[in-house]
Amino acid sequence: MASPSHRRSLRRRRTVVVTAAVAAAGLGAGVLVMNANADAVDLYHQVLPAKDGWAASGSGTTGGSKADSAHVFTVSTRAQLVKALGSVSDTTPRIIRIKGTIDANTDDAGKKLTCADHASGTGYSLSAYLKAFDPATYGRKAPAGGQESARKKAAEQQKKNIVFRVPANTTLVGVPGTNAGIKGGSLQVQNVKNVIIRNLTFAATEDCFPQWDPTDGSAGEWNSAYDSVTLRGATNVWADHNTFTDAPVFDKSLKTYFGRKYQIHDGALDITNGSDLVTVERNVFSNHDKTMLIGSSDSDSTGKLRVTLHHNVWKGIVQRAPLARIGQIHLYNNVYDTTPLNGYEPKYSIDSRAKAQVVAEYNVWKLPSGAKVAKLLSGDGTGSIAGSGNLVNGTATDVVAAYNAANSKKIKTSVNWKPGLVAGLQTAVGNLAGELAATTGAGVLS
Ligand code: CA
Ligand code: CA
Repeated sequence: MASPSHRRSLRRRRTVVVTAAVAAAGLGAGVLVMNANADAVDLYHQVLPAKDGWAASGSGTTGGSKADSAHVFTVSTRAQLVKALGSVSDTTPRIIRIKGTIDANTDDAGKKLTCADHASGTGYSLSAYLKAFDPATYGRKAPAGGQESARKKAAEQQKKNIVFRVPANTTLVGVPGTNAGIKGGSLQVQNVKNVIIRNLTFAATEDCFPQWDPTDGSAGEWNSAYDSVTLRGATNVWADHNTFTDAPVFDKSLKTYFGRKYQIHDGALDITNGSDLVTVERNVFSNHDKTMLIGSSDSDSTGKLRVTLHHNVWKGIVQRAPLARIGQIHLYNNVYDTTPLNGYEPKYSIDSRAKAQVVAEYNVWKLPSGAKVAKLLSGDGTGSIAGSGNLVNGTATDVVAAYNAANSKKIKTSVNWKPGLVAGLQTAVGNLAGELAATTGAGVLS
């Protein structure tokens, strides 16, 4: 028979054992939840996976995943979206679920606003603008005063409606099955960190008030503002499973004034002004001219503009897929279909300039018959493109060698870095186009 002290000791031991078992079970459950799969965390709370491109660098990209329940919003109107985004200085983690298509050109009551509505009260009219600044009578100097001042006021009124500033620590996600997206809007991620943008269709981002610049090029250009998504000084951004398109108004239907196309579209997704640590994956870019700028000028920044583009589909894109400057940029497992689409005639896919350090590997190009491999790239003679494993119409092809054989400003083939954040990189890409057709763009995630 055990002494009282021995019984106490047994009880203690049993308690210790039970506690250890509970701890082990708890730990086991925790490991299970973390390892199970992405389904264990809902779409809205998912974060960028480890090593998934440059945005996984540093503390990674978690967006609004840590939002408390008071900061998880579901929005279906412009006014609701504006309210959910809050102030750009409020960095409280937030998750914004976009349900259906939000039309940016609507007022706070949801009433549709036309370009004429945006111009009301400013005195601006296109016909008066064209009359005032016709190079035949006004000459080739920058428009100023009068109708140009009125144009600026009208543009300000449109901008107030269609530009959405995204604060730090935000996740924006389209609710599956609702054709979620933003029509006519421009998401601006400016001087903030840690933003996730997923499962959204960005369509019809249009400038009602393009500006005539008679000094842009030899013949002048109509310049428009508003990228569908614009990153300026943004860090740790993950753009995943979105669709970008000009639809329903394609460039071929735009009018010509002063002998130049009256361009209402700007970029689809531009990454500029010292933006850094960005991963752009499984998006569809289509029906667009100047698609993606990385760096806005040759002096944009140094040591930044580190961007990974992978598993994106580019089709019906004229140029800038991307236009890369300065940064360390990794392009892998992208699919480029350079067949003309809806009047968009591809000029080139990738431009490496201003000493850009591009690694382009295991990408796939589909070229229509008669198209030249030498025209897939572009450059100013200072940019690099390294990497191998690219396929053109199913055949392993050195796209840089083809370009360099036909051009005097050669693309350099060595880079100052080696990509390490390469989650999901596939080296067998024979079936990539078919795979991505079903797995990229908005509307795929559930
Ligand atoms: Ca522009
Ligand atoms: Ca732009």
